[in-house]
Amino acid sequence: MSFIMKKIQMVDLKGQYEKIKEQVNKSVLDVIESTAYINGPEVHQFQKELEEYLGVKHVIPCANGTDALQIAMMGLGLQPGDEVITADFTFAATVEVIALLGLTPVLVDVNPESFNIDVEAIKKAITPKTKAIVPVHLFGLAANMDEIMKIARQHNLYVIEDNAQAIGGYYTTKTGKKLKTGTIGDVGSTSFFPSKNLGCYGDGGAIFTNNDDLAHTIRGIVNHGMYKRYHHDVVGVNSRLDSIQAAILRAKLPHLDSYNKARREAAKKYTEGFSGIENICTPSCGCDAQHSCNCHVFHQYTLKVKNTDRDSLVQHLNENGIPCGVYYPIPLHLQKAYADSRYKEEDFTVTNQLVKEVISLPMHTELDDEQIQFITQTVINFVTK
Ligand SMILES: *Cc1c(COP(=O)(O)O)cnc(C)c1O
Repeated sequence: MSFIMKKIQMVDLKGQYEKIKEQVNKSVLDVIESTAYINGPEVHQFQKELEEYLGVKHVIPCANGTDALQIAMMGLGLQPGDEVITADFTFAATVEVIALLGLTPVLVDVNPESFNIDVEAIKKAITPKTKAIVPVHLFGLAANMDEIMKIARQHNLYVIEDNAQAIGGYYTTKTGKKLKTGTIGDVGSTSFFPSKNLGCYGDGGAIFTNNDDLAHTIRGIVNHGMYKRYHHDVVGVNSRLDSIQAAILRAKLPHLDSYNKARREAAKKYTEGFSGIENICTPSCGCDAQHSCNCHVFHQYTLKVKNTDRDSLVQHLNENGIPCGVYYPIPLHLQKAYADSRYKEEDFTVTNQLVKEVISLPMHTELDDEQIQFITQTVINFVTK
């Protein structure tokens, strides 16, 4: 390692900003000059551009990714007591909104290779009260949507895709169709939190659907349940993407594919660096040898370490100036807020193991080869010592 190596960051928002600074600064100043701060033309333009990019009929911008999930569930008319199946191994927002709406969360185990919701576990969890499945395309890799859609059709369930970590990724169906993640189920949601693959400079989110009626319902819900000014037909919320954030997102959207490509290239270099190292399991890139590629967009690059004290590895990396993350350290079914006597530990063997083994390495669009090599070598030194 040379002493001039750039400081390693988990996410390098500044480096990314520097490259689009002129455009972003101009866009933000234009909004300020225009005074169209709420629901201005930038929001509408961004909505249109994102619809086109995703190939989806409707994008409804909102305030953040958690709201997006909540509003999607409200739009589908889910009622207290309805059961909603989601993954035990994900960020808490997914289960939080289910509980908040008085719905019954049903957490199920995940697949140890993809980290995504396990389709057999979904089948086992279905009851007459089940109304929806929420797959999360965790870390940027699409869940098994062919199977999930099949189960949903068989049991007449809604599918709500939590696409907060996978925007710009796609899923290749069994019939060879490439569909953008978040546009496959009845409704999809995303977050524009700064560190997400398409992040703004504050909070933001969006809901996607191809269903005209659902889009109409949701447009009212995000705006206090109003379909006509001062006529409140349903109980809604106030959830808006503001114009400044929309302007920033418009400046960044044209770069999303190259951002995701940079992430995939960094992931490839990590994986090559770890090849043949015992006790390190690298993540799948989402492509199989034949033809189908699910195009992982690597929101996180997450290793599983075997026969290694993961927490000591975290400490070792930190001591060497390498930030890293543990996503996620506690299964949702063991969180105080979401514990439920119906859950049996033997139904969560994968999640219970993953929380001990996972470690996410720095991943962003500005990583250089020297940094990747230093990070890789520092991990290897620890696990092989
Ligand atoms: C970030 C994230 C959310 C929440 O997004 P916010 O914009 O922070 O509300 C929801 N689900 C997943 C999987 C996420 O990663």
